[in-house]
Amino acid sequence: MSTDKKVETLALTKGGACPTCNNPSDHKYRPFCSKRCADLDLGQWLNEGYRIESEEESDLDEYEPD
Ligand SMILES: [Zn+2]
Repeated sequence: MSTDKKVETLALTKGGACPTCNNPSDHKYRPFCSKRCADLDLGQWLNEGYRIESEEESDLDEYEPD
């Protein structure tokens, strides 16, 4: 079977790019391209706290069905 290769290529091109440096991500360190980038991102995470505002929830609050 040759489907494995196709899936891997698809994941590389579609699944992406390293969020840190935009290089193609390595399946080993997904979604990053290397351990270094994964570590870098983790460091950023810890520094900034990565706050996700829950806008979706306030949206639901304002929506009142009849
Ligand atoms: Zn990277």
